[in-house]
Amino acid sequence: MNIIYVDNNATTRVDPAVVEAMMPYYTENYGNPSSMHAFGGNVSRAISKAREQVASLINASPDEIIFTSCGTESDSTAISATISSIPDKKHIITSRVEHPAVKNLYEHLAKKGYKVTFVPVDRQGSLDLDFFYDHLTDDTALISIMWANNETGVVFPIDEITRAANDRGIVLHTDAVQAVGKIPVDVQKTNVDLLSLSGHKIHAPKGVGALYVRKGTKFTPFLIGGHQEKGRRGGTENVATIIGLGKASVLAEELVKTGMAKVGRLRDRLEKGLISRVQNAMVNGDTSSRLPNTTNISFEYIEGESILLMMNELNICASSGSACTSGSLEPSHVLRAMGIPFTAAHGSIRFSLSHYNTEEEMDFIIEKMPPIIDRLRRMSPFWNQGKPANTMLTGAECPL
Ligand code: PLP
Repeated sequence: MNIIYVDNNATTRVDPAVVEAMMPYYTENYGNPSSMHAFGGNVSRAISKAREQVASLINASPDEIIFTSCGTESDSTAISATISSIPDKKHIITSRVEHPAVKNLYEHLAKKGYKVTFVPVDRQGSLDLDFFYDHLTDDTALISIMWANNETGVVFPIDEITRAANDRGIVLHTDAVQAVGKIPVDVQKTNVDLLSLSGHKIHAPKGVGALYVRKGTKFTPFLIGGHQEKGRRGGTENVATIIGLGKASVLAEELVKTGMAKVGRLRDRLEKGLISRVQNAMVNGDTSSRLPNTTNISFEYIEGESILLMMNELNICASSGSACTSGSLEPSHVLRAMGIPFTAAHGSIRFSLSHYNTEEEMDFIIEKMPPIIDRLRRMSPFWNQGKPANTMLTGAECPL
């Protein structure tokens, strides 16, 4: 089946070169890297090489990299490690548009007695920096702000946020799961203390991630067990996926330098093509500070899940900005935080590209989307009532 896959912020295709690098660690090289014999030692050396490769991708030193099982574990480890290392401070600053991996943990911590400040964003999804500065206090233990948003692709001013944290001696964690491999991420230029990344977003397999911990950062392990990862994360290493992450990092480093510009051009072609052919369609998110592979487009007065189903019939895989929670369609917390009208938030589709996509695929989507939108709108009572564009509706008013 010929799939047009434009859902790369959800997960990516594992690069064949990554699979090839991993295979020997499922077959002949099955030793335990902690074993004393040379058979295990070879595996341990392969992990060291992967650590160097991941470190190189973000310009870190290899001993600042801890392998984890995913981006979520990296986030949880960074946050838990920091708050347990600084027990006397109880305030955390984050944004209102973090991925659930971060957002849900902070909501949990807020219930446990932490004071958590959620920095708002504007209609473009850009961070309210005045609000951020106004809420820094002497009690702030941790600032945790994503590098780039997974739904809109908006890139946050992480340099400035990091400088503010550094100046005040506050620990800075960034969830860079969507940024790494798409835009340059350099921890020497941007002095973050902790940074999360995930393998399956950069053409490595699922089940592996990494956490960067700047040398000298206070750190209390989250997974306490064996001496693996220098005692910072117990548990026998998921060797093959770590080797895969290493290989994917080498490829990602090259892609960021040379390949993402092409991805950006494809994204722009798709975006312009759709916006010019479909009325009442708009791009969500600041287009001047955005990941090159992402566009989030609202098709007003219809709902995203119906659009996705029709796209699915044509083997086009994307995702929507509304999710079915307990039987009702809820726009995502990101689009709600941006104040996108209900009628637009419901009909939002995220297209996230990779270097595997082609111009022909973009043109196919551009050709097939207008009739899909048209068909759904003809079935939408609200569209037929001729409500003016951008009418702000409350959830109760919204018929979708
Ligand atoms: N953070 C962001 C911004 C993400 O987009 C994701 C996954 O979509 C995660 C964290 C979680 O990563 P993982 O799926 O590796 O746990």
